[in-house]
Amino acid sequence: MKTRNRLLLAFMTGTICTSAISALDQPVVVPVKPGTAQPEVSDSAEKPVAKPASPGSTSEKPVVAADQHGNTAKYAQDQQVLTPAEALQSLKDGNKRFITDHLEKTAGKERLIELAKGQKPIAAIIACADSRVSPELIFNKGLGELFVLRVAGNVSVEAYALAGSAEYAVAHLNVPLVVVIGHETCGAVKASLKGDPEKGNLGRLLKAVQVGNHLNLAAAVRNNVIFQADQLLLESEMIRDFVISERIIVVPAVYSLNTGEVTFMDPVVWEKG
Ligand SMILES: [Zn+2]
Repeated sequence: MKTRNRLLLAFMTGTICTSAISALDQPVVVPVKPGTAQPEVSDSAEKPVAKPASPGSTSEKPVVAADQHGNTAKYAQDQQVLTPAEALQSLKDGNKRFITDHLEKTAGKERLIELAKGQKPIAAIIACADSRVSPELIFNKGLGELFVLRVAGNVSVEAYALAGSAEYAVAHLNVPLVVVIGHETCGAVKASLKGDPEKGNLGRLLKAVQVGNHLNLAAAVRNNVIFQADQLLLESEMIRDFVISERIIVVPAVYSLNTGEVTFMDPVVWEKG
C-alpha cells in the first residue's frame, strides 16, 4: 500500500496575517498548531498519489555539499540574491505599496539594458490566469523581478510544463521563494465547486483544482492554494529537495479582489518520515 507523506503547514511567528485570514470567510484549512493536522485534500483516486522520496534513486545531478544547516542537498543552486525570508518580505512590502497607492516605478530604459545581460528574479509566482491577478502589479514589481507562471485555478503539477518552469526558476535562476497564489471568487474554483462536468482540456484542468470538502467558495480557494503548494513538493523531487535543505520556501497565498491585499499563509513543509 502506498503511503501518502504528510505535508504540514508550520505556523511560524510573523509569517501569517491572522487578521486578514480571519476576515476571509470560513473553515480554516490550515492546522491550529504544528504537527496536528494537514491541509484538507480529497483522497480522490484521480489525484496524484505522493511518491515518497527514494534517496539516490535518480542520477539527474550529483549530490552537492551540505548547506549551512548541515543538510545535504541533491540539486545544486548558485547564490541567491535574497534569502527566502527577505524575498517574502519584499513581496509583502510591494503589496503594501499597491494597496496604499504608493507605487514605485517598475521599468525604464536603464533597467531594460541591465536586464538584457541576464535575469535574477526574486521569486517564482504560480498564479491564476484571472486578468485581475497580475503578480507584477499586485506586488509592485518590475521587469525581471518575478518569474511568473499563470494558469486558471493556479494548478501546479497537473501542468507538467508549469512545474518544470518552477524547477527551472529554482535550480537555474536561484529564486529563494515560490508563491502559489489564488484569489477571491476564482472562476476555476467556482466551477470545480459546482461540479458540472466540462469537456476537453477545460474538464481536465478543473479536475486538477482541489476544493476539498468545502462548500464555501472562500474556503475552497484557500484549500486549493494549499493543495497546489503541497503538490509541488509531492510531485517535484527537485522542489522538495530545495525545501528540505531550507534553500527555498513554498508559500500559499490568497489575493483579495476587493482590497488588493495578499494574505500569505505559512510555508508548506515536508514532514520527514
Ligand atoms: Zn482564478
